Amino acid sequence: MPSENQAVLSDRFGRVVDYLRLSVTDRCDFRCVYCMAEDMTFLPRQQLLTLEEMAFLGRAFVSLGVKRIRLTGGEPLVRKNVMSLIGNLGSLSGLDELTLTTNGSQLRSTAPALAAAGVRRINISLDSLQPERFAAITRTGKLAQVLDGIEAAQQAGIERVKLNSVIVRGQNDDEVVALVDFAMARGLDISFIEEMPLGDVGCRDRRGGLVTSEEIRQQIAADHPLLASTESSAGPSRYYRVAGSASRIGFISPHSHNFCESCNRVRVTCEGRLLLCLGNEHSVDLRAVMRRYPGDLEALREAIVAAMELKPERHYFYHDDKPQVLRFMNATGG
Ligand code: SAM
Ligand code: SF4
Repeated sequence: MPSENQAVLSDRFGRVVDYLRLSVTDRCDFRCVYCMAEDMTFLPRQQLLTLEEMAFLGRAFVSLGVKRIRLTGGEPLVRKNVMSLIGNLGSLSGLDELTLTTNGSQLRSTAPALAAAGVRRINISLDSLQPERFAAITRTGKLAQVLDGIEAAQQAGIERVKLNSVIVRGQNDDEVVALVDFAMARGLDISFIEEMPLGDVGCRDRRGGLVTSEEIRQQIAADHPLLASTESSAGPSRYYRVAGSASRIGFISPHSHNFCESCNRVRVTCEGRLLLCLGNEHSVDLRAVMRRYPGDLEALREAIVAAMELKPERHYFYHDDKPQVLRFMNATGG
């Protein structure tokens, strides 16, 4: 086994994995229609990794060359004492960046502590600027609280705040330009994500609702001439800029633009399941390793290195015309 801080995580296809998305909880204060069913059963607490196990896991990944960790969920900021984990991960030497994806509801109270722990970039999900529509999409969310959270993040000095919007036909596809204008007026970046068929959310055939990145790009370009940009945020977003604006406009297109070839990431669920691909079920139970060999960093590192063999070449969301991944997005960690 290589010594700590040596980059060794690579898969059978020569891709180097240096990015970890860690889901800290499956729970959430919202119930977004594309992410969860209305009536969700969450995991019993003893099945979740403890915050100490998550910190240990972070240490193992960083020792294997992971440079970026993004915390996600569920809603990461509803996990009790999550700030202690953020502090622990933030102080790992060898980690270049600790980021977070949040629905923004808790940011008024947490943004200063996040900034103090070294979080420089966060993603905040925002699908509508209309209060009633926002309430309908999130089922339980309040737009004013999220807008206040966005402001709080900027006031706390978090340098790059990016909005994430999932655009669904007939739901919010008439708000694309309004969302871009909102982002540009505040110096925020914004990425548009194509909806993925993760989990049975019950209500509809998702393919009918798919609005492709290209369609969204054309809607924006009709109002704001877009300049393609070569910038990257270490993720699958393809970026554009509007002349005279600091905001970047990104497109995450799991359906229309396959980015698997350059995939540099893996995910760990809040139960400690290492997922090698968002669109496949290949996984390894790292919780079992940590509970069988408590405190044994080498055992954990070996399990992670061995798991890279399972990383599939690309994602397949549909099999025989049926969605094949049955995990909900909140369990996977977006
Ligand atoms: N609760 C946090 C939030 O909403 O930002 C973090 C977790 S959430 C699962 C992460 C991202 O996944 C959000 O931007 C959300 O919009 C996106 N998401 C959820 N379900 C999705 C789906 N079925 N297809 C595409 N994106 C989805
Ligand atoms: Fe919660 Fe985020 Fe899923 Fe919405 S997208 S239900 S905020 S985890």
